[in-house]
Amino acid sequence: MKLFLSVEDNFKHQGLRKKLVEELAAKGIKDKNVLKALSNVPRHYFLDKAFLNQAYSNVAFQIGAGQTISQPYTVAFQSQLLNLAPGEKVLEIGTGSGFQTAILCAMKAKVFSIERQRELHLNAKTILSKLPFNPKLKYGDGFKGWDSFAPFDKVIITCGAPYVPEELMNQLKVGGVIVIPVGLGDNQKMLRLTKTSGDSYDEEVFGDFSFVPMLKDTNK
Ligand code: SAH
Repeated sequence: MKLFLSVEDNFKHQGLRKKLVEELAAKGIKDKNVLKALSNVPRHYFLDKAFLNQAYSNVAFQIGAGQTISQPYTVAFQSQLLNLAPGEKVLEIGTGSGFQTAILCAMKAKVFSIERQRELHLNAKTILSKLPFNPKLKYGDGFKGWDSFAPFDKVIITCGAPYVPEELMNQLKVGGVIVIPVGLGDNQKMLRLTKTSGDSYDEEVFGDFSFVPMLKDTNK
């Protein structure tokens, strides 16, 4: 993969990334495409320079506007639950740093991502435009989805949702999958819903996670 950023991606970063990927594999991440994407995308590009040396620890970080870049394990876990095939259309809610967006692009998905904080939307746009990916990014409210590009094969929500937004289910293809952490406060259950018809879905539950909240409307 060719990269064009001024921050370098040197052997030290690549070595740390390899170690992180081994750690994630040991924690149960098996999807080879997820592991390959995590080996290729430089996470340190998405963090403030002050965190450069810790970019490859399995921890979350502040990215501004009171938000966080998800822990690498969470990114890997959600990406794996999507069961992505190349060329699938994926809607992401909560662009944040843009790291999860880049991972989905590296897995050859067509990615559409929405962020409600303008500052984060603009930062992610700058970083992602310097990488060899071409996601569509929007500043807006993820509760509403992105009707003009629907239907989607997959939907991933990277903030803690109070419930499953109906509009997002409507914009999902029958047979499609939505991966969504649902719950209030600091604790969410990771759900994978598979749409079985216009108004029904199968539900699987995958353990506890902690996300920043999914909030309505936009914020400057
Ligand atoms: N995928 C991101 C995770 C960032 S944290 C990453 O890898 O960095 C979750 C993000 O969801 C935050 O940036 C937050 O502002 C955003 N968010 C919260 N509610 C939202 C909504 N209704 N629509 C779009 N984005 C939302």
